[in-house]
Amino acid sequence: MSKFNELPISEEIVRAVSEMGYEEATPIQASAIPAILKGQDVLGLSNTGTGKTAAFGIPAIEMINEYRKHPKVLIICPTRELVEQVATELRKFSKYKEGIKIAPIYGGQPIDRQIQLLKRGCAIVVGTPGRIMDHLRRKTLRLTECDMVILDEADEMLNMGFKEDIEEILKSMPEDQHPQTILFSATMPDEIMKITKKFQTDPVKVQIKSSQRTIDTVDQYYYEVPRGKKMNALRVLLNHYDPELCMIFCNTKRMVDELSEELNHCGIRAIGLHGDMKQVARDRVMVQFREGKCPVLIASDVAARGIDVDNISLVVNYDLPQDHEYYIHRVGRTGRAGKKGKAISLLSAKRQLRELKEIMRDTKTNIAKRMLPTTEQLEALNRKNFIQEVLTACNEGINQDSMEIANDLLAEGIAVESLISALISMNYKNEVIDIEDENAIRRYSENFDAVRLHLNVGKNFNIKAGNIVAAIIEECGISAQALGRIDIRSNFALVDVEAAKVDLVLKKMQGAQIRGHEIEVQIDEAPKRKSGRGTKKSDIKRNKRSGSSDKRNSRSKMKKEGRSSERRKSKRKK
Ligand code: ADP
Ligand code: MG
Repeated sequence: MSKFNELPISEEIVRAVSEMGYEEATPIQASAIPAILKGQDVLGLSNTGTGKTAAFGIPAIEMINEYRKHPKVLIICPTRELVEQVATELRKFSKYKEGIKIAPIYGGQPIDRQIQLLKRGCAIVVGTPGRIMDHLRRKTLRLTECDMVILDEADEMLNMGFKEDIEEILKSMPEDQHPQTILFSATMPDEIMKITKKFQTDPVKVQIKSSQRTIDTVDQYYYEVPRGKKMNALRVLLNHYDPELCMIFCNTKRMVDELSEELNHCGIRAIGLHGDMKQVARDRVMVQFREGKCPVLIASDVAARGIDVDNISLVVNYDLPQDHEYYIHRVGRTGRAGKKGKAISLLSAKRQLRELKEIMRDTKTNIAKRMLPTTEQLEALNRKNFIQEVLTACNEGINQDSMEIANDLLAEGIAVESLISALISMNYKNEVIDIEDENAIRRYSENFDAVRLHLNVGKNFNIKAGNIVAAIIEECGISAQALGRIDIRSNFALVDVEAAKVDLVLKKMQGAQIRGHEIEVQIDEAPKRKSGRGTKKSDIKRNKRSGSSDKRNSRSKMKKEGRSSERRKSKRKK
């Protein structure tokens, strides 16, 4: 560890970072800052949350020592959120350096405002590739004086989606100009590593090695969850971990939307973040999440890259990531800057265990198995929390208004024990979520507008309902709740699919494989029907359970969850 004042950086920056509470430079900062300041091309690799932004941001600011009309430094990031985050961080570093203008530019924001910003002159531009190219074409951005190009999340930036954009941006610089090129990331797959050679000359590789590729301050667990009960398991685990802020990852944008809808339906306030959302909505989501107004953020991989939010104490892999490197980035949203965190993965099929083992091997991380908390454990936890809340309230001293009521009650001649007991009964409902409870999917079973599909595989093909469910979920990225009854005959199978999802299932499943059999799928002749569920014995039981008394039950449960989250919030405010 080194102190910032031992690094070759200006007084002003040392002062700014110390005000930000940085006591010592992190290893990547200590190694990369001097190398960048020497003018070398640098490839910086270090785990998530280890302060890479300052590692490139501080030298970027040191590049600037006078007012500049056209940018001298260009920083490119994959998402708008990251652009804002990096620009904000850089402004803090440059607090005591006069007149350094930093312009964040990204799509979804009125371009006129950005043009004004660029016209006034700015030394550092931070942007997403699309919007940078847009400004280059409009000639509202000139890179002729740009000496330094930085790619944050470099492997993502040089991946298929962005690589051509980056090439085009670099081409817009004069032929004889070789800007100092700086790449940073927590991950760098071999195939992308090869590509970096095209962009850098004699780069210095600054790599901070650690025994595992995920942060060692994050405890990582996995849970095996009964099929179709993932949503309930998630609710149980959120209750169990009671995170201050939590990020949940899904593999598809559709799943992000569905899961946030379902969690809210169960009284858990959650918001989604993904690339198809309008910028205003994305900004709103990030503000609500950062401020803890909405403590659960459900996100897709790309949208959440690099996000640095304080106090995320839990990361949930609702789906296992398809790309193993993504696991590192997901888990890296917690345990930042030496803090502790937890990350959990939900496995809902046997074969996912194999996948998880591969993730462990690739990321050099141990992910330990945990059992879902039992009803008894959850009840004990509720009780403990309740007692803690009462104790906290007691410590806050006597409330005069309450005392007046208490005196009235005592005047009635009621024993103190009876009074306490009555108040506890009125306030404490020890209800827990039962994993097997069907409430979470009742909405679907009550009014399941289904279309029956005919698949060309059946018992004779050694196919079970689970194989079909797993294949459809995986291929189509939809949740199991979009599926109704599955009827497997000798040579074919009939599957009820929620009407809204039918087109997708038809498209994705045509030609897909289930246990090595190529699938042909078509709409079954029978007319569209209400409720594809409900003739199997278990379904009858389920329908009974979702009868009116149960509804009442669940409503009070949701109310309770709302209340306890309110309580949590007020606890936090104090
Ligand atoms: P990375 O890009 O490596 O994932 P960030 O640059 O986003 O990490 O930094 C993670 C967090 O650590 C941020 O909140 C940042 O303010 C903080 N941080 C960075 N450098 C230091 C430091 N030297 N001391 C303390 N905190 C730091
Ligand atoms: Mg970063």
